[in-house]
Amino acid sequence: MSNKVYFLSWDRRGELYSFLKATGAFDHVKARNFLAIKIHFGEDGNEGYIKPEHVFPVVKIVKEKTAYPFLTDASTIYVGKRSDAYHHLLIANKHGFSIEKCGCPIVIADGIRGNAERKIEVNLKYFESVYIANEICNADSFIFMSHFKGHEITGFGGALKNIGMGCGSKAGKYAMHHSSKPLVRQELCRGCGICLKNCYQKALYLVNKKIVMDKWKCTGCGQCMVSCALKVFKLNWNEDSVTVQEKMVEYAVGVLKNKNGIYINFLNHISKYCDCFSLAKNTPLMYDVGIIAGVDPVAVDQASYDIVNKAFGKNFFKDIYPEIDPTIQLSYAEKLGLGGRNYILIEY
Ligand code: SF4
Ligand code: SF4
Repeated sequence: MSNKVYFLSWDRRGELYSFLKATGAFDHVKARNFLAIKIHFGEDGNEGYIKPEHVFPVVKIVKEKTAYPFLTDASTIYVGKRSDAYHHLLIANKHGFSIEKCGCPIVIADGIRGNAERKIEVNLKYFESVYIANEICNADSFIFMSHFKGHEITGFGGALKNIGMGCGSKAGKYAMHHSSKPLVRQELCRGCGICLKNCYQKALYLVNKKIVMDKWKCTGCGQCMVSCALKVFKLNWNEDSVTVQEKMVEYAVGVLKNKNGIYINFLNHISKYCDCFSLAKNTPLMYDVGIIAGVDPVAVDQASYDIVNKAFGKNFFKDIYPEIDPTIQLSYAEKLGLGGRNYILIEY
């Protein structure tokens, strides 16, 4: 696996097609292969997702190789417009991911209810087997188009998160999040009820205007933490973030087992929170930097992390999440053989 990582500055994003061709990353794409382009179609009101005009050049190159590209994502476990395939397709359509604009169709990877999955054996620290969305398993190879930004549990979200968390079925996502159940500091609660609307599991309720959590129902998705302005919900960051990052990487091992991938990270609209929020919370905190591509997901994420920090002038992720060490995902992925943290950066 090549550790070369290619960089295109954001002001030259109009040259994405020729940039990607120049990387040589598409050389492994084989004729008549079903190639899954894993992407996030954005939540309602969210602006951080990768736009259809940036998908089109990627699809164009794949089609030149006479392969069969399709756009895909799997259902979420939190409340929103992507928690089943029906609504997922509607929001994708609303955000412009049409065949006309992207050049290929969408196939939601885990079916109408998010339970079309396959069990893949990995035999690792947390999981003997992982539960991956069915059509991800059916794909011959992958392109992961990932929006690189902050993340409330893993510190940052990039290629590794798009692979591991993004390709898990609902059962898989529950298994990854299971350890990240927030502590409830009831004394801070004012009883406004906002968090209740964001809890997909209906694990929260009010008693005498104070929030109560049903720990048996909670999946640790983290939506309540972001929705409560009074910081009633709190993670044990050291333990929970590390565990979720490592679990996510073990899922990535299952997804990539015996398969090739191309990884394209978009370092724009860099927000504190992930793209699952439809709130105004995902406003960008720094300028748009560029696009990174390569065939090593660890090198691509490491380079993205380094370039964002350099552009910010100090460690951006430490600034927004002092409690989280987001490099755990990089070191664990390297340890499990998904790629390497050392890379050669080539500017286009
Ligand atoms: S959002 Fe916060 S303050 Fe409002 S009910 Fe939930 S925990 Fe209480
Ligand atoms: S209580 Fe919070 S972390 Fe648990 S399922 Fe509900 S929103 Fe997610």
